[in-house]
Amino acid sequence: MFVNDCLNVNAEGHLTIGGCDTVELAKKYGTPLYVLDENVIRSTCKSYVSSIEKHYNGNGLALYASKALSCKALCELAAEEKMGLDVVSGGELYTALKAGFPVEKIHFHGNNKTYDELNFALDNNIGKIVVDNLTELETINSLCVEKGKIQKIALRIKPGVDAHTHDFIRTGQIDSKFGFALETGEAMEAVKESIKLSNVELTELHCHIGSQIFDIDPFVTAAEIMMDFIRAIKDETSHIVTELNLGGGFGIKYTNKDNPTAYDNYMNSVSRAVHAKAEQYGIPVPFIYIEPGRSIVGEAGITLYTVGAVKTIPNVRTYVSIDGGMCDNIRYALYQSEYTVVTANKADKEPDTVVTVAGKCCESGDLIQENTKIVNAKPGDILAVLSTGAYNYSMASNYNRIPKPPIVMVNNGEDRLIVKRETYEDLIKNDIDL
Ligand SMILES: *Cc1c(COP(=O)(O)O)cnc(C)c1O
Repeated sequence: MFVNDCLNVNAEGHLTIGGCDTVELAKKYGTPLYVLDENVIRSTCKSYVSSIEKHYNGNGLALYASKALSCKALCELAAEEKMGLDVVSGGELYTALKAGFPVEKIHFHGNNKTYDELNFALDNNIGKIVVDNLTELETINSLCVEKGKIQKIALRIKPGVDAHTHDFIRTGQIDSKFGFALETGEAMEAVKESIKLSNVELTELHCHIGSQIFDIDPFVTAAEIMMDFIRAIKDETSHIVTELNLGGGFGIKYTNKDNPTAYDNYMNSVSRAVHAKAEQYGIPVPFIYIEPGRSIVGEAGITLYTVGAVKTIPNVRTYVSIDGGMCDNIRYALYQSEYTVVTANKADKEPDTVVTVAGKCCESGDLIQENTKIVNAKPGDILAVLSTGAYNYSMASNYNRIPKPPIVMVNNGEDRLIVKRETYEDLIKNDIDL
């Protein structure tokens, strides 16, 4: 019935998530409220881990890309599920460290890591730094010389596969701010430079071809291109790269139009492609990393809002205003992302009215969804926006000085708070008194 398996409708006609009544959750914690189903997150983690076991002899590690939703509880959960972790900033790294995440399983990404962030990462013995550019490579090496240590690094490569289009493109992805291009020779230069430097050890190549991808083919193509490059490196320098990171980007269901492939199929196809290339080139089968973010938490999450004003402009549209908006979900304003909206307190009724769900921020573009069909909305109704687990809380802002909503984790009918609601006091805590 719903896009997400964890959702259902109870005898009162209320939407449930993980066996909890969403209307009761809204009452208990207030709205807006992020709700995550723990079972969904854990079983998704398990399916990635087991797909590597099954199709790649366990010779790999799934890293949770924590930018999708970073908080201590999620880092702890990822560690319990035997995942590694991607961080892209000092703040995400700090969160992981405070959660006690095993440092050797952390990868540090980003196209412009600051000097302080690199220092912080090195001082905490982080497992791998994914180097984006030559400036960074030099900085890491000289910091390591000072500290008397050797840092394992990966190089971020642009494989020239752009999977954002329907028919994915194989070349012409040079114009990206991330990483070293293959076509221009820049990537090989970076490899040679890395080998020359005394205090970095190049063990891994990384690529990430996009996000919300449903096809397997672009992943397979990217894997093959990367294996070709590993061979080219061996031929030109005799250096053997032993680890291959194929990034994240696995698509999820936002609406019934989305049709993701099982992760197993992905790993099966990629594994075959990598093994075939390794055999053909006589190079070792690399240890493999994948980096799912959205697919770990996306479908597990919903956001609950309370409807305030309902404004019908005859022959134009009906605005249903909610008590959150772009401050807790900027994805429609940013890139017209599609979402499914359900009236949580009338989830047993057929949607009958086409509306625009508008936020409360002072910005005309602050919309959550346009032309979406819901049950005729009344002030006080609870709206649930589905598949908001990824890139909602993590992209939230305090625009209009609106405190960020809390996150509640549900599991088999039990609920617990994992992130508190921000208070007005939190909002002014850094303001200096004159
Ligand atoms: C964003 C990102 C991911 C995760 O992407 P999803 O689409 O959320 O799976 C993985 N790796 C890198 C390098 C990224 O930038």
